Amino acid sequence: MAIKKLGTRFLCWSRFLTENRFTLFGKRSVLAIAFSIGALNCQNAFAWSDPGHQIIAALAYSYLTPEAQAKAQAILAQDTDTLTQTDFVSRSVWADKYREAGRPDGASYIGTREWHFVDIPLSTNGDKAMVESEEEKICPIVDLKGGVASLGAPAQDCIVNKINQFTAELADPKTSVQEQVFALKFLIHFVGDIHQPLHTSDNDDHGGNCVWVAPTSHDPMRLHGFWDYQAVYLLTKGAAPADYAKILHDEITEQQIKDWQTETPKDWAADSFELSKNAAYNLGTTTPHCDAENKTTTIKLTPDYETNASNISKIQMEKAGVRLAKILNEILR
Ligand SMILES: [Zn+2]
Repeated sequence: MAIKKLGTRFLCWSRFLTENRFTLFGKRSVLAIAFSIGALNCQNAFAWSDPGHQIIAALAYSYLTPEAQAKAQAILAQDTDTLTQTDFVSRSVWADKYREAGRPDGASYIGTREWHFVDIPLSTNGDKAMVESEEEKICPIVDLKGGVASLGAPAQDCIVNKINQFTAELADPKTSVQEQVFALKFLIHFVGDIHQPLHTSDNDDHGGNCVWVAPTSHDPMRLHGFWDYQAVYLLTKGAAPADYAKILHDEITEQQIKDWQTETPKDWAADSFELSKNAAYNLGTTTPHCDAENKTTTIKLTPDYETNASNISKIQMEKAGVRLAKILNEILR
């Protein structure tokens, strides 16, 4: 299912690019970062959009201690890869670019494509314990010999394990610089992906990629793409990720930070799954099956559905940013 899920995922949007320089607030952290934002033009859609990841990364960065910021920057400064710019926020989309650079059968595609999600069947019924038991079946713990989590790790793994593995690898002082670079870039990305509801569920529909929906103010698109792009765009209206991250930072309360930091990646996936089941697939009709061309009839979205999707996306990006910061503050000391 996972391989099928990644078979044909294309989404066409008009591209717009803007470039922004920004200052990440506060007395302790002044960082000028230049990066591009934009919707995609016929790119594959199986991750938060670039702006979604960049918002999460900029938000996380704003919660990093000065020590964690300095260490993260020092690790990324060792990286000569040119798929993205080298700053923390730009590197949040590196894992997608790396995977796509290997299409259709290169090592980076074959070897990492399944790391971006966990396919919990949408038909899973019951409470959180049942969802988590499904997770365990789909995502068994992989014994990584010698603690190697990045280079040379098995291709058949899921996002829950990868977050745990890269966290452990980054925390280990024996990890080589090359591995640290990989671990940090994957971690920044995967903590974002796991909070996109359609990265934790599957309805035998390529993770919502063969389900077509008609948004109220956009041409028909894939359900997965709606959650990647349109639900975020409805919030930001194209604002620079750094600017939107600042808005989120100012809204998040101390109590929310406390509440959100108590859970594990396994819990995050289970929560994300519930949102997929109860909101993303709450389409007001039985979700049609994908045909031989990996398409369904088009389902019209309602304004209420879109508002709900945007509200959920906002909270999910906030949680992702806060949780990524917590991980990095604990291990980059
Ligand atoms: Zn991804």
